[in-house]
Amino acid sequence: MTTSFDVIVLGVGGMGSAACYELAARGRRVLGLEQFPLVHDRGSSHGHTRIIRTAYAEGVAYVPLARRAFAKWYALEQHTGRHLLTECPCLNVGPPGSAHVAGVRASVREHALAAEELSGDEINRRHPAFRFPTEYRGIIERAAGFLYVEECVRAHIDGAVALGAEVRAEEPVRAWKPVGDGVEVSTDRGTYRAAKLVITAGAWATKLLADIGVPLRVMRQTLLWFEVAARAFRRDTFPIFIADTPDGEFYGLPMIDARGVKLARHYTAPELPGPEAVNWELTPDDEAALRQLASRFVAGLGPFTRGQVCMYTVTPDRHFVLDTHPAHPQVSVACGFSGHGFKFAPTVGEIMADLAEDGTTAHDIAPFRAARFR
Ligand SMILES: Cc1cc2nc3c(=O)[nH]c(=O)nc-3n(C[C@H](O)[C@H](O)[C@H](O)COP(=O)(O)OP(=O)(O)OC[C@H]3O[C@@H](n4cnc5c(N)ncnc54)[C@H](O)[C@@H]3O)c2cc1C
Repeated sequence: MTTSFDVIVLGVGGMGSAACYELAARGRRVLGLEQFPLVHDRGSSHGHTRIIRTAYAEGVAYVPLARRAFAKWYALEQHTGRHLLTECPCLNVGPPGSAHVAGVRASVREHALAAEELSGDEINRRHPAFRFPTEYRGIIERAAGFLYVEECVRAHIDGAVALGAEVRAEEPVRAWKPVGDGVEVSTDRGTYRAAKLVITAGAWATKLLADIGVPLRVMRQTLLWFEVAARAFRRDTFPIFIADTPDGEFYGLPMIDARGVKLARHYTAPELPGPEAVNWELTPDDEAALRQLASRFVAGLGPFTRGQVCMYTVTPDRHFVLDTHPAHPQVSVACGFSGHGFKFAPTVGEIMADLAEDGTTAHDIAPFRAARFR
């Protein structure tokens, strides 16, 4: 038997959960299909926290999307009664000529954001755990913080279900095809029809969306926690930071529980063809490489306490893909978040709902069209 919906959302992770919530809030009959148990740790939306920031190094076009995301995360907190976002300043720092710091500065100027520029010495004086060279420059902004990533996904799913959405776990989509103006989606349990399909398949978009002309690749990334003396790493003393160094970017979040301080490298990993190529075990090299880099700039890192493996799905220019399918306008796609997408999930959910309902959105998604790669 075939069941019909207004919209099917393929993949209920960070972005798909937000799309389900947004569409359900607009009164649509929504079916979300997820291959794994809900809120799992085999995709891209796990690992306790995600940074949210406004002075966006990756491009001024992201700033309005970040502002909208802040408002929508707070609205989700109100709707679900859960604490999802903790505000915390974010320091962006790098040597003279750092592209990352220049990008932050451009966003601050273009959007008149509140931010303070500091020398390496000033940073080290204010935040005693840091050891940045004198000539480094930092920009610190207060419109930043961290999201409890699993709680956020759970809140979107529970919120969507409370609004009438159907979300099915452990039901992988085997195939989809256009049927007239709509779509048909097949799983091992059934065939579903809908007027519209939203594809938010994370790293699996490498295969599911191989036909949209975007060469997506997957990067294995690790998140590691280190024991530290609490005082210098607490949220009142130690900001979130993103450091651009000659040996690559790394970032960290303050100590918020017994796990310690969380540190990770950004990019600097091989590009893999798909999620099946990812090694989910941590290796001794994961810790050694991060410790070697981080301990040049952060003092007092104790023993490694735990870690997790996660995936980035990267595009060649490291910018997102938010678009309708080039051959099937009833299908919208959100993929290639290139390691910096989670903060925008509620905005992406809104854009996907707009594209599913109207084929267009008031958000400026011109920089994110798939056609830039064709
Ligand atoms: C280590 C790490 C740190 C990060 N830090 C930050 C940060 O600080 N700030 C930030 O903004 N972003 C950050 N990111 C990026 C951000 O987490 C991702 O961009 C975002 O989570 C991607 O969400 P997604 O929905 O595309 O993928 P996912 O959350 O992985 O969701 C895709 C879902 O689709 C499902 N799926 C796939 N194929 C099928 C199928 N055939 N049938 C059914 N279901 C299917 C998958 O199982 C999965 O649940 C980080 C990422 C990592 C890995």
